[in-house]
Amino acid sequence: MLCKSECNLSAANIAIMGSGLMGRLLALSLKRLGARVKLYDQSDQKGRGSAARAAAGLLTPLSESLVADKSIIAMGVKSLRLWPEILAQLQGYTFFQQQGSLVIAHQQDRAQLAHFEQHLTRHYSENDYQKLTRQQLAVLEPSLAKRFSCALFLPEEGQIGNRKLMSALTKQLIIEQVDWQLSAKITQVAPYYFVVNGEKKQADLVIDCRGTGAINSLEGLRAVRGELFQLFAPEVTLTRPVRLMHPRYQLYIAPKPKKHFVVGATEIEAHDNSEMTVRSALELLSAAYSVDSAFAEARILEQVSACRPALMNNHPAIFKQQGLIQINGLYRHGFLIAPVVLAKALQAVKQSFERVNHNNDEFSYLIKEVYHNA
Ligand SMILES: Cc1cc2nc3c(=O)[nH]c(=O)nc-3n(C[C@H](O)[C@H](O)[C@H](O)COP(=O)(O)OP(=O)(O)OC[C@H]3O[C@@H](n4cnc5c(N)ncnc54)[C@H](O)[C@@H]3O)c2cc1C
Repeated sequence: MLCKSECNLSAANIAIMGSGLMGRLLALSLKRLGARVKLYDQSDQKGRGSAARAAAGLLTPLSESLVADKSIIAMGVKSLRLWPEILAQLQGYTFFQQQGSLVIAHQQDRAQLAHFEQHLTRHYSENDYQKLTRQQLAVLEPSLAKRFSCALFLPEEGQIGNRKLMSALTKQLIIEQVDWQLSAKITQVAPYYFVVNGEKKQADLVIDCRGTGAINSLEGLRAVRGELFQLFAPEVTLTRPVRLMHPRYQLYIAPKPKKHFVVGATEIEAHDNSEMTVRSALELLSAAYSVDSAFAEARILEQVSACRPALMNNHPAIFKQQGLIQINGLYRHGFLIAPVVLAKALQAVKQSFERVNHNNDEFSYLIKEVYHNA
């Protein structure tokens, strides 16, 4: 799935701007297809400053269905099947879990849970979700059953260790000798050229994967701030992602290996990567404590703030013109949909060199042709 041998781009000189989530996946795939790939990022191997490093790594398409439309859910469901294939091609360790997720609500927010259940009943099959009694909940997550008398269980959902994935991709980029320039600030992208650290360079194809860093190059692109906590909580026994209905935004707890927990995430219309606000800290931590009082003794490892790249309709898009492809707008669903976006991006790259269009298959709406009047 990282694309091995079915096409050959050996003559192609491809420059990828940004080594966050999409840039890394694409660089490896294109290198394996034989392209001469150069990857550029203003940051470091860890991806500091990227949305990919900040994220929670939830792969929960149905839980997102209240805030995302059917096309995102379809990409998420398909991507859940594709992730294991991608991870199998990486030598570094990555955490991937598919043991379902739970949606719960405190008494005062039970109407929202009922609304979500109605939504699932109307749009999905009864195999996709299950309403749990307290006894059934106790079997899956005993600590939750102490405080919650019911829950919705979404058995196909999962999560990925986003930072582990970023490290595994770093390792793989090094093993496969991808030419990766760090501390490389891109100030301009255009068909067939780009400007890096003040120097103009040429390429057969420029691919822009800068996320929010592309705001001045892509009309309608905006930043949506998200804040979350990384906690170490040895007394908390949760094993799968839990989402708590909340009037302002969907709060979640994602249990990671070694008793690490991600508690997030706010959603604020602002291009602002500054430290977490007191208000957000109070809301996130009290929500975690309200779900399980064992969070009281948790240690705060990190408070994280970063921006998600979003287009006007909150959908991802691959804008394609001769010499330039811009992949952006992955918003709050980057990990959820990355395998499908990657497959379509590879298709767009191949089309750029083959000069043929075969764009009527599944998810073809992702690729947008850009034409300029001469
Ligand atoms: C708080 C938070 C929680 C999230 N949780 C989830 C989740 O649970 N599940 C999920 O599916 N998604 C989640 N996301 C969304 C996901 O992280 C993004 O959709 C995804 O990372 C976008 O990938 P990208 O490659 O387009 O951008 P990024 O990952 O942001 O990568 C962009 C890269 O471009 C580089 N760059 C930018 N500007 C320049 C420049 N001028 N020059 C050189 N390099 C540049 C950056 O350094 C960065 O490395 C979350 C995001 C946030 C912020």
